[in-house]
Amino acid sequence: MQPNVETFIGCGAAYEEADTVLFGAPFDSTTSFRPGARFGPAAMRHESFGLETYSPYQDRDLTDRRIFDCGDLELCFGSAEAALADIEARAEEILRDGKRPILLGGEHLVTLGALRAAARRYPGLHVLHFDAHADLRDDYLGARLSHACVMRRAHDLLGDGRIHQFCIRSGEREEFRFAAAHTDMHRFTFDGLRETVEALAAAGAPVYLTIDLDCLDPAAFPGTGTPEAGGVRFGELLEAMRLAAQTNVVAADVNELAPMLDASGASTAAACKVLRELLLALPPFENTI
Ligand code: MN
Ligand code: MN
Repeated sequence: MQPNVETFIGCGAAYEEADTVLFGAPFDSTTSFRPGARFGPAAMRHESFGLETYSPYQDRDLTDRRIFDCGDLELCFGSAEAALADIEARAEEILRDGKRPILLGGEHLVTLGALRAAARRYPGLHVLHFDAHADLRDDYLGARLSHACVMRRAHDLLGDGRIHQFCIRSGEREEFRFAAAHTDMHRFTFDGLRETVEALAAAGAPVYLTIDLDCLDPAAFPGTGTPEAGGVRFGELLEAMRLAAQTNVVAADVNELAPMLDASGASTAAACKVLRELLLALPPFENTI
C-alpha cells in the first residue's frame, strides 16, 4: 500500500530523476475582480485524471517524461511579499538542482516570485507573456504587488525589450503607452510570435513562459477572475505553446484558473489540457549552467 498522494496525471517521477518540477501557488489575495484562483492548482491535479497522458496533437505521452509534482506551497494570504518570497525560494531550489520549474497559479502575481529566481540564475532572461491583459499598471489602487502589475514588476527586473506580450486586448491607456516604449506588445492574437521565437532561439536567450489562461476566449474558458471577450481558441494557444517551446524555456507557469467560477468544470478541463500540452511541448530540460 502507498499513501494517497495526488499529482497531476503522469507526473509521478521521483525528484532525483526528474528534469521538470511542478509546484502550486494557491494565492489570489490581490485579485482585482472575482477571487478563486487559489483553488486552481488542486483542481487541476484532481481533474487531470479525466485526461489521457497521451497527446494526439503532439504524439507524445507524459508517461515518457520525468516530471515531479511537489504539490502546493502553503502561502500567507495576508502578505503578497511573504507569499512571493516563498514562491521564489521554491523556484530557486528547483533551478539550483538543475531542473525546470513549472508553477501553477493562483493569480498572475505568483509569476513574480518564480521570475525573480529565474532572472537571478539566467542573466539575459526574456519573458513570453500570453494574456488578455497587459498587466502593466505601476500600481493598482496603491498596491504595486497586484496581478494587474505583474508585468510592470517584471519590467522593473528585466528592463526594456525583454518582455514579449501576446493576445493583449485589455488595459488602461497608460499601459498601452508604456508598452509602446518599453515592451514588445502584440495585440489580440499570436501574430508575430513566430518571428519573436526565431529571434530568441537564434540568440540562445533563456526564456520564462507565462500563460495567463484568460488569453483564451471566455466561451472556452469562463472560469477566471477577469474574463475578457474576444480571446483566442484552444488550438491557437496550443500552436503558440509549441512555437514558444522552440526557445530555451527555463521556467514556465500557467495561472488564473478559478475553478469555482465555472460550475460546468469545462474551464478546469481546459486548463489541464493546456498544462499537459505545455509539458509535452517543452523538450526534456538540459541544464545549461
Ligand atoms: Mn495576467
Ligand atoms: Mn489576464
